[in-house]
Amino acid sequence: MIYLIVVAYIVSAIMFVFGLKMLGRATTARRGNGLSSLGMLIAVMATVLSIIDSIRVEWVVLAAVIGAGIGVAASRLVKMTAMPEMVALFNGFGGLASLLVGWGTFQAAADRFGVGFQTQAVDPAQFTQALGGGFSAATIYLAILIGGVTFTGSIIAWGKLSEVVTSRPVLFPLQQVVNALVLLAIVAGGVWFTVAPDQYWIAVAVTGLAFVLGIMAVIAIGGADMPVVISLLNSYSGLAACAAGFVISNNLLIITGALVGASGIVLTSIMCKAMNRSLTNVLFSGFGAGGGTTAGGKGIQGEAKSMSTEDAYYILEAARSVIVIPGYGMAVAQAQHAVRELGDLLEHNGAEVKYAIHPVAGRMPGHMNVLLAEANVPYEQLAEMDDVNPTMETVDVAIVIGANDVVNPAAREDEGSPIYGMPIINADSARTCFVLKRSMASGFAGIDNPLFFKDNSYMIFGDAKATVESMAGEFKESAA
Ligand code: NDP
Repeated sequence: MIYLIVVAYIVSAIMFVFGLKMLGRATTARRGNGLSSLGMLIAVMATVLSIIDSIRVEWVVLAAVIGAGIGVAASRLVKMTAMPEMVALFNGFGGLASLLVGWGTFQAAADRFGVGFQTQAVDPAQFTQALGGGFSAATIYLAILIGGVTFTGSIIAWGKLSEVVTSRPVLFPLQQVVNALVLLAIVAGGVWFTVAPDQYWIAVAVTGLAFVLGIMAVIAIGGADMPVVISLLNSYSGLAACAAGFVISNNLLIITGALVGASGIVLTSIMCKAMNRSLTNVLFSGFGAGGGTTAGGKGIQGEAKSMSTEDAYYILEAARSVIVIPGYGMAVAQAQHAVRELGDLLEHNGAEVKYAIHPVAGRMPGHMNVLLAEANVPYEQLAEMDDVNPTMETVDVAIVIGANDVVNPAAREDEGSPIYGMPIINADSARTCFVLKRSMASGFAGIDNPLFFKDNSYMIFGDAKATVESMAGEFKESAA
């Protein structure tokens, strides 16, 4: 039996690695997801088999049915636009699960020794031994710490994404000092817990401090820096799982946690690069702190011009090259299918069409890629920011569809702007720029956008889907 379980774990681990690799390409992502899910099913079944004698199987089956029920309901009910929030919750619950694994192991030993708030005299060495030694005590501490930070941090990130909590950084006097003190107490608690884990209150205090640290770390970050936080929390959830794997000596959990932790770190570094920010800068400076946050440094001059879809059609009809720049508003409007149809019509009319994807467009990494893949936009037509920007001046029309922060020229032109230095797609360099949105409102970062006031920019107000459908309708009408 033991060999069967080991083989099942190895097979699952291989499936996770290949599944993860397949997730890297839109064409194989769906299969990669399926492969990883199958790997997880095998892993769960093997784990249940390995402890079958010491558990009540009916509870495991009940938990699996409830969990699967929630998963199926969420996949059907949660809208595509709410996916980022759901991912944030997934990270948080992953962290909580690891924290519970740490606590479960600790509590089981505490119960055996009668360790609690009113601790009886216990030999610390014996108690440490019951936990599996000093190393195990350290991994329990890490699972509780990282799991706790991930849990509350992700809940705050969920709040910020769903705008239950302000998306701006929350800053208060002496914040860094408070953070440093919390961190110091956590480190001291860690050392104490590892040396004398029979002090029950330390485990409770560390759990509480981990919750506080998660809140403090994420509450101070906001605006355009959020993508970095989301990917960092994703990585933390993996590291917490890895620590939990050490706690219960489960190699597969260690491997899975390490894979999630490492890929999350890679994603964090990609996000930092996309924002042209260092991780320390994101974590400790507070987005836009000290700078103006609404209008950016300079204040915007000029007047925004609006255009009807009928007039826009005449310009599009004559265009030979068109770049579509999608953003979060395309997800809100669910305009991806209409966008694909317009792209096809433009191509049919003789224009070269490309879709320029900014790495932080939308509300989660790869958000725009997912939507455009859903609408079957050919992968070859997607272009990265660094590839389109050098050619932007030769582009006849840039159609900005529900994007705002990722095309904000203040990032290039206005040193006082909170997003100054962030690489953007230079939509304003195209010969003509159409901005499709419902109003003059700002984007996630909460800052005004000078693009709307440029000479070559035209606002086309309305829901992105309705606007794009109307543009496509003009092409179809003229062809009829
Ligand atoms: P923004 O949030 O900057 O702008 C989206 C725009 O879409 C809004 O200005 C809004 O204007 C418009 N909009 C909303 N609904 C509709 C609709 N139905 N039809 C037409 N337009 C609509 O989005 P971007 O994609 O440009 O930038 C992403 C921002 O989110 C960045 O600041 C990024 O840092 C942040 N972020 C990204 C994450 C990621 O992982 N990608 C995660 C967390 C945050 P109006 O209301 O006038 O219509």
